Amino acid sequence: LIRFENVTKRFGSNTVLDRLDFSVDAGKHVTLIGPSGSGKTTILRLLMTLTKPDEGTITVGGQRLFPASDKQCREVRKNIGMVFQQFNLFPNMKVLRNITEAPVTVLGLSKDEAEARARELLDMVGLADKCDAYPTQLSGGQQQRVAIARALAMRPQVLLLDEVTSALDPELVAGVLDLLRDIARTTDITMLCVTHEMNFARDISDQVLMFDSGQVIESGSPEKIFGDPSHERTREFLGAVI
Ligand code: ATP
Repeated sequence: LIRFENVTKRFGSNTVLDRLDFSVDAGKHVTLIGPSGSGKTTILRLLMTLTKPDEGTITVGGQRLFPASDKQCREVRKNIGMVFQQFNLFPNMKVLRNITEAPVTVLGLSKDEAEARARELLDMVGLADKCDAYPTQLSGGQQQRVAIARALAMRPQVLLLDEVTSALDPELVAGVLDLLRDIARTTDITMLCVTHEMNFARDISDQVLMFDSGQVIESGSPEKIFGDPSHERTREFLGAVI
């Protein structure tokens, strides 16, 4: 479903991705791990067409992302939901409207359809009673659950998760991770996840990719990567974070 071929991305003289190759099959849950600054967030931003590669090819569902017209990019983006570290909810909109906005404006759903779907999702994330709250009236964990509901409201094929618990107070992390475990178990959505939560990565992943110096240096099942990593850098990294 997702394919990076020979992708290079530089910021000035800093080569962040260096002839990167990897692919993600439909329905799989793939986790990206690796040191800070190794380019994990950049990969998700490339998929959202928020930034462009210098070289190489990225395809989603067979559709090339670069070069592509704005219209083609929008079509691809419709199928991709992203949840950010800092929630990024619309602060001036109530919770319900945060979730209905894109389905109405981008997918053309009626307000009633979008609201019915939003209420179902809020129920699923345990926030049915917060429709009329503003984001600032919610805890970080609640805001992140709204952000997850907002991403799912677009019925995306792919869900990108960028360190979604790292801005949360420790006691709120488990609730958000449990919700994501449920989503992974009960939907056929393809998940590409950047996380420092290694237990979570072990639970949900079909495949773990270890990044360093702009490349995938090792990939495999969570049992293999966490239990018996082949690469010295992977052992060092896991030794430092677990
Ligand atoms: P972290 O785990 O700390 O979030 P990461 O693996 O997600 O790290 P990226 O955020 O992808 O890493 O950043 C990779 C490198 O690219 C870093 O050195 C960063 O400083 C640089 N970088 C990212 N975005 C930009 C930008 N817009 N302009 C310049 N440099 C950038």
